[in-house]
Amino acid sequence: MNDAAIPANIRALILDMDGVIWRDGTPIGDLPKIFERIRERGLKYVFATNNSTKTPEAYCQKLAALGVDAEPDQIVTSAMGVAFLIARHHPRGTKIFVVGENGIRAALENQGFEALSVEDAPQAETVVVSIDREVNFQKMVEATLLVRAGRPFYTTNTDRTFPTPRGEIPGSGSWLSVVASASGVEPLVAGKPFPYMMELALARLAVAKSDTLVVGDRLETDIAAGQAIGCPTALVLSGVSTREEARTWNPTMIAENLWDLVK
Ligand SMILES: [Mg+2]
Repeated sequence: MNDAAIPANIRALILDMDGVIWRDGTPIGDLPKIFERIRERGLKYVFATNNSTKTPEAYCQKLAALGVDAEPDQIVTSAMGVAFLIARHHPRGTKIFVVGENGIRAALENQGFEALSVEDAPQAETVVVSIDREVNFQKMVEATLLVRAGRPFYTTNTDRTFPTPRGEIPGSGSWLSVVASASGVEPLVAGKPFPYMMELALARLAVAKSDTLVVGDRLETDIAAGQAIGCPTALVLSGVSTREEARTWNPTMIAENLWDLVK
Protein backbone atom coordinates (compact mmCIF):
# COMPACT_ATOMS: atom_id res chain seq x y z
CA MET A 1 0.00 0.00 0.00
CA ASN A 2 1.60 3.27 -1.09
CA ASP A 3 1.04 6.66 -2.67
CA ALA A 4 3.08 6.00 -5.81
CA ALA A 5 1.81 6.76 -9.30
CA ILE A 6 -0.21 4.21 -11.27
CA PRO A 7 2.00 1.20 -12.12
CA ALA A 8 3.26 1.16 -15.71
CA ASN A 9 1.37 -2.04 -16.59
CA ILE A 10 -2.07 -0.48 -15.93
CA ARG A 11 -4.01 -0.03 -19.18
CA ALA A 12 -7.56 0.49 -17.91
CA LEU A 13 -9.55 1.97 -15.04
CA ILE A 14 -12.86 0.90 -13.51
CA LEU A 15 -14.08 4.10 -11.86
CA ASP A 16 -16.69 4.53 -9.16
CA MET A 17 -18.57 7.83 -9.56
CA ASP A 18 -19.99 9.19 -6.29
CA GLY A 19 -17.02 10.20 -4.12
CA VAL A 20 -14.58 9.80 -7.05
CA ILE A 21 -15.99 11.97 -9.87
CA TRP A 22 -18.46 14.06 -7.90
CA ARG A 23 -19.79 14.55 -4.42
CA ASP A 24 -23.32 15.88 -3.86
CA GLY A 25 -23.35 16.71 -7.59
CA THR A 26 -20.22 18.89 -7.31
CA PRO A 27 -17.24 17.78 -9.44
CA ILE A 28 -14.15 16.61 -7.55
CA GLY A 29 -11.32 18.53 -9.22
CA ASP A 30 -10.95 19.74 -12.81
CA LEU A 31 -12.69 16.86 -14.55
CA PRO A 32 -11.92 17.90 -18.18
CA LYS A 33 -8.21 18.11 -17.27
CA ILE A 34 -8.29 14.80 -15.37
CA PHE A 35 -9.86 12.93 -18.30
CA GLU A 36 -7.54 14.60 -20.81
CA ARG A 37 -4.66 13.24 -18.72
CA ILE A 38 -6.28 9.78 -18.62
CA ARG A 39 -6.54 9.79 -22.43
CA GLU A 40 -2.94 11.06 -22.78
CA ARG A 41 -1.83 8.10 -20.72
CA GLY A 42 -3.71 5.79 -23.09
CA LEU A 43 -5.93 4.41 -20.33
CA LYS A 44 -9.30 2.93 -21.23
CA TYR A 45 -12.04 3.50 -18.64
CA VAL A 46 -15.50 2.42 -17.65
CA PHE A 47 -17.63 3.78 -14.83
CA ALA A 48 -19.16 1.22 -12.46
CA THR A 49 -21.75 2.32 -9.91
CA ASN A 50 -23.97 0.55 -7.40
CA ASN A 51 -26.60 3.19 -8.12
CA SER A 52 -29.39 1.40 -10.03
CA THR A 53 -31.75 4.31 -10.58
CA LYS A 54 -30.35 5.85 -13.78
CA THR A 55 -29.73 4.49 -17.28
CA PRO A 56 -26.28 4.66 -18.94
CA GLU A 57 -27.63 7.38 -21.25
CA ALA A 58 -28.64 9.48 -18.22
CA TYR A 59 -25.15 9.08 -16.75
CA CYS A 60 -23.57 10.11 -20.05
CA GLN A 61 -25.61 13.30 -19.99
CA LYS A 62 -24.59 14.02 -16.40
CA LEU A 63 -20.91 13.36 -17.22
CA ALA A 64 -21.07 15.46 -20.41
CA ALA A 65 -22.46 18.38 -18.40
CA LEU A 66 -19.30 18.16 -16.27
CA GLY A 67 -17.02 18.01 -19.31
CA VAL A 68 -16.38 14.24 -19.27
CA ASP A 69 -16.74 12.27 -22.52
CA ALA A 70 -18.31 8.84 -22.12
CA GLU A 71 -20.33 6.56 -24.36
CA PRO A 72 -23.22 4.50 -22.90
CA ASP A 73 -21.13 1.32 -23.21
CA GLN A 74 -18.62 2.87 -20.80
CA ILE A 75 -21.23 2.91 -18.03
CA VAL A 76 -22.01 -0.17 -15.96
CA THR A 77 -24.62 0.03 -13.20
CA SER A 78 -25.81 -2.47 -10.61
CA ALA A 79 -29.08 -2.57 -12.57
CA MET A 80 -27.15 -3.93 -15.57
CA GLY A 81 -25.25 -6.18 -13.19
CA VAL A 82 -28.45 -7.74 -11.88
CA ALA A 83 -29.75 -8.29 -15.44
CA PHE A 84 -26.40 -9.96 -16.31
CA LEU A 85 -26.61 -12.10 -13.16
CA ILE A 86 -30.23 -13.16 -13.80
CA ALA A 87 -29.34 -14.03 -17.41
CA ARG A 88 -26.94 -16.67 -16.08
CA HIS A 89 -29.82 -18.51 -14.45
CA HIS A 90 -32.98 -17.66 -16.41
CA PRO A 91 -33.89 -17.58 -20.12
CA ARG A 92 -35.01 -14.52 -22.09
CA GLY A 93 -38.68 -13.79 -21.58
CA THR A 94 -38.58 -14.61 -17.86
CA LYS A 95 -41.16 -12.52 -16.00
CA ILE A 96 -39.59 -10.49 -13.21
CA PHE A 97 -41.36 -8.49 -10.51
CA VAL A 98 -39.31 -5.35 -9.95
CA VAL A 99 -39.28 -3.12 -6.91
CA GLY A 100 -37.01 -0.50 -8.43
CA GLU A 101 -36.69 2.42 -10.81
CA ASN A 102 -36.23 3.04 -14.55
CA GLY A 103 -32.58 2.00 -14.56
CA ILE A 104 -33.51 -1.55 -13.56
CA ARG A 105 -36.50 -1.87 -15.86
CA ALA A 106 -34.43 -0.70 -18.84
CA ALA A 107 -31.57 -3.08 -18.00
CA LEU A 108 -33.88 -6.09 -17.62
CA GLU A 109 -35.76 -5.30 -20.82
CA ASN A 110 -32.43 -4.90 -22.69
CA GLN A 111 -31.58 -8.47 -21.63
CA GLY A 112 -34.91 -9.67 -23.01
CA PHE A 113 -36.71 -10.05 -19.68
CA GLU A 114 -40.24 -8.88 -18.94
CA ALA A 115 -40.41 -6.43 -16.02
CA LEU A 116 -43.79 -6.74 -14.30
CA SER A 117 -45.61 -3.99 -12.45
CA VAL A 118 -47.20 -4.57 -9.04
CA GLU A 119 -50.58 -5.46 -10.58
CA ASP A 120 -49.03 -8.42 -12.46
CA ALA A 121 -46.62 -9.42 -9.69
CA PRO A 122 -48.28 -12.81 -8.88
CA GLN A 123 -47.23 -14.07 -12.36
CA ALA A 124 -43.56 -13.36 -11.70
CA GLU A 125 -40.91 -16.09 -11.93
CA THR A 126 -38.22 -14.08 -10.15
CA VAL A 127 -38.05 -10.98 -7.95
CA VAL A 128 -35.66 -8.01 -7.92
CA VAL A 129 -35.74 -5.58 -5.00
CA SER A 130 -33.73 -2.34 -5.01
CA ILE A 131 -34.21 1.34 -4.22
CA ASP A 132 -37.60 2.55 -5.43
CA ARG A 133 -38.61 6.08 -4.60
CA GLU A 134 -42.22 5.12 -5.30
CA VAL A 135 -42.15 2.11 -2.97
CA ASN A 136 -45.36 1.24 -1.14
CA PHE A 137 -46.79 -1.46 1.13
CA GLN A 138 -48.30 -3.49 -1.72
CA LYS A 139 -44.94 -3.78 -3.51
CA MET A 140 -43.36 -5.14 -0.31
CA VAL A 141 -46.30 -7.56 0.11
CA GLU A 142 -46.01 -8.94 -3.44
CA ALA A 143 -42.22 -9.28 -3.28
CA THR A 144 -42.44 -11.07 0.07
CA LEU A 145 -45.14 -13.49 -1.11
CA LEU A 146 -43.12 -14.38 -4.23
CA VAL A 147 -39.92 -14.99 -2.28
CA ARG A 148 -41.79 -17.01 0.35
CA ALA A 149 -43.23 -19.09 -2.51
CA GLY A 150 -39.68 -19.94 -3.60
CA ARG A 151 -39.12 -17.49 -6.46
CA PRO A 152 -35.42 -16.59 -6.84
CA PHE A 153 -34.65 -13.30 -5.09
CA TYR A 154 -32.10 -10.84 -6.50
CA THR A 155 -30.92 -7.35 -5.70
CA THR A 156 -28.75 -4.75 -7.33
CA ASN A 157 -26.80 -3.81 -4.21
CA THR A 158 -26.94 -3.92 -0.43
CA ASP A 159 -26.01 -0.28 0.31
CA ARG A 160 -28.31 0.59 3.20
CA THR A 161 -28.39 4.29 2.35
CA PHE A 162 -28.45 6.49 -0.75
CA PRO A 163 -26.71 9.89 -0.76
CA THR A 164 -28.78 13.03 -1.38
CA PRO A 165 -27.98 16.73 -0.81
CA ARG A 166 -30.12 16.54 2.38
CA GLY A 167 -28.27 13.49 3.69
CA GLU A 168 -28.50 9.71 3.52
CA ILE A 169 -31.94 8.24 2.73
CA PRO A 170 -33.01 4.54 2.74
CA GLY A 171 -31.21 2.71 -0.07
CA SER A 172 -31.54 -0.68 -1.73
CA GLY A 173 -30.25 -2.53 1.35
CA SER A 174 -32.94 -1.02 3.57
CA TRP A 175 -35.79 -2.01 1.24
CA LEU A 176 -34.52 -5.50 0.55
CA SER A 177 -34.12 -6.04 4.29
CA VAL A 178 -37.91 -5.79 4.61
CA VAL A 179 -38.37 -8.67 2.16
CA ALA A 180 -35.42 -10.66 3.56
CA SER A 181 -36.76 -10.26 7.09
CA ALA A 182 -40.32 -11.23 6.14
CA SER A 183 -39.23 -14.22 4.02
CA GLY A 184 -36.13 -15.44 5.84
CA VAL A 185 -34.32 -15.47 2.46
CA GLU A 186 -31.27 -13.38 1.55
CA PRO A 187 -30.99 -12.17 -2.07
CA LEU A 188 -28.24 -12.81 -4.61
CA VAL A 189 -26.40 -9.50 -5.01
CA ALA A 190 -25.09 -8.14 -8.34
CA GLY A 191 -23.29 -4.96 -7.28
CA LYS A 192 -20.14 -4.21 -5.34
CA PRO A 193 -18.66 -5.88 -3.23
CA PHE A 194 -19.85 -8.93 -5.22
CA PRO A 195 -18.16 -9.70 -8.55
CA TYR A 196 -20.98 -9.78 -11.14
CA MET A 197 -21.26 -6.10 -12.10
CA MET A 198 -17.47 -5.79 -12.03
CA GLU A 199 -17.11 -8.75 -14.40
CA LEU A 200 -19.39 -6.93 -16.79
CA ALA A 201 -17.13 -3.86 -16.50
CA LEU A 202 -14.06 -6.02 -17.22
CA ALA A 203 -15.77 -7.52 -20.27
CA ARG A 204 -16.39 -4.02 -21.64
CA LEU A 205 -12.72 -3.09 -21.25
CA ALA A 206 -11.30 -6.33 -22.68
CA VAL A 207 -8.09 -5.72 -20.70
CA ALA A 208 -6.45 -8.30 -18.39
CA LYS A 209 -7.45 -8.12 -14.72
CA SER A 210 -3.84 -7.58 -13.65
CA ASP A 211 -3.67 -4.48 -15.92
CA THR A 212 -7.01 -2.99 -14.76
CA LEU A 213 -7.11 -0.69 -11.73
CA VAL A 214 -10.36 -0.51 -9.73
CA VAL A 215 -10.75 3.01 -8.28
CA GLY A 216 -13.23 3.89 -5.53
CA ASP A 217 -13.82 5.83 -2.34
CA ARG A 218 -15.45 3.09 -0.26
CA LEU A 219 -13.39 0.21 1.09
CA GLU A 220 -16.20 -2.24 1.86
CA THR A 221 -17.74 -1.94 -1.63
CA ASP A 222 -15.27 -0.61 -4.24
CA ILE A 223 -12.02 -1.99 -2.89
CA ALA A 224 -13.62 -5.26 -1.78
CA ALA A 225 -15.15 -5.71 -5.26
CA GLY A 226 -11.82 -5.05 -6.95
CA GLN A 227 -10.18 -7.60 -4.70
CA ALA A 228 -13.03 -10.07 -5.35
CA ILE A 229 -12.32 -10.05 -9.11
CA GLY A 230 -8.55 -10.09 -8.67
CA CYS A 231 -7.70 -6.55 -9.87
CA PRO A 232 -5.29 -4.06 -8.32
CA THR A 233 -7.20 -1.38 -6.38
CA ALA A 234 -6.85 2.32 -5.60
CA LEU A 235 -8.63 4.05 -2.74
CA VAL A 236 -9.24 7.77 -3.25
CA LEU A 237 -9.77 9.84 -0.11
CA SER A 238 -12.26 12.24 -1.77
CA GLY A 239 -15.30 10.32 -0.51
CA VAL A 240 -16.31 8.06 2.35
CA SER A 241 -13.34 5.99 3.57
CA THR A 242 -10.24 7.28 5.37
CA ARG A 243 -6.56 6.42 5.21
CA GLU A 244 -6.78 4.97 8.74
CA GLU A 245 -9.64 2.64 7.77
CA ALA A 246 -7.64 1.50 4.72
CA ARG A 247 -5.05 -0.27 6.91
CA THR A 248 -7.22 -3.35 7.38
CA TRP A 249 -8.20 -3.53 3.68
CA ASN A 250 -4.81 -3.09 2.11
CA PRO A 251 -5.72 -1.48 -1.26
CA THR A 252 -2.87 -1.55 -3.79
CA MET A 253 -2.62 2.24 -3.70
CA ILE A 254 -4.08 5.29 -1.96
CA ALA A 255 -4.47 8.77 -3.49
CA GLU A 256 -6.01 11.99 -2.22
CA ASN A 257 -8.25 12.12 -5.32
CA LEU A 258 -8.48 11.01 -8.95
CA TRP A 259 -6.15 13.76 -10.19
CA ASP A 260 -3.44 12.72 -7.73
CA LEU A 261 -3.79 9.19 -9.06
CA VAL A 262 -3.47 9.96 -12.77
CA LYS A 263 -1.42 13.21 -12.93
MG1 LIG B 1 -18.47 5.95 -4.16
